[in-house]
Amino acid sequence: MKTSITPTLVNLYHVCQREMWLHAHGIRMEHTSEVVYEGKLIGETTYERRSDRYTELDLGIAKIDFYDAKNRIVHEVKKSDKVEVAHIAQTKYYLYLLYQQGIRGTKGVIEYPKSRTTKEVQLTSDDLVKIPQLLKIIEQIIASEQCPKRITKHQCQVCSYFDFCWIEEAASA
Ligand code: SF4
Repeated sequence: MKTSITPTLVNLYHVCQREMWLHAHGIRMEHTSEVVYEGKLIGETTYERRSDRYTELDLGIAKIDFYDAKNRIVHEVKKSDKVEVAHIAQTKYYLYLLYQQGIRGTKGVIEYPKSRTTKEVQLTSDDLVKIPQLLKIIEQIIASEQCPKRITKHQCQVCSYFDFCWIEEAASA
């Protein structure tokens, strides 16, 4: 199945469908977010001394920044494991894209440098069925003209769209 759904969108689907829709429609606020900046910084500084061991792999709709070609391992660096389900889905999707290109025997390692923990991710036969289904759902949500509803506010505190989504409340406070 050919798709234009990026791993970032798969990640965001599991965090907030509204955020995914906004991102897909080109409405970006990351430049205003210290949390996003800090996350990027962690990724860059964690791997800057180890970059020789990894290659950047262009999958067409996405790039894997740190791919260990010898051992077929996708390394993904994240700030915290708060939305680990989204990190797992994103990493599995990288493995799925590799699978589609004929690369088998892969695995993913999600790294959380702050807590010094890692999480291994495998692509299962169940995933090979479920991921195309998920991509269809994501495509339907994005194709809608209607932006999905907000999630509960306490889940939004670190989101770069916070002001965008909650501006009326902030103005009336
Ligand atoms: S602020 Fe909340 S509702 Fe709005 S996009 Fe972010 S997580 Fe979703």
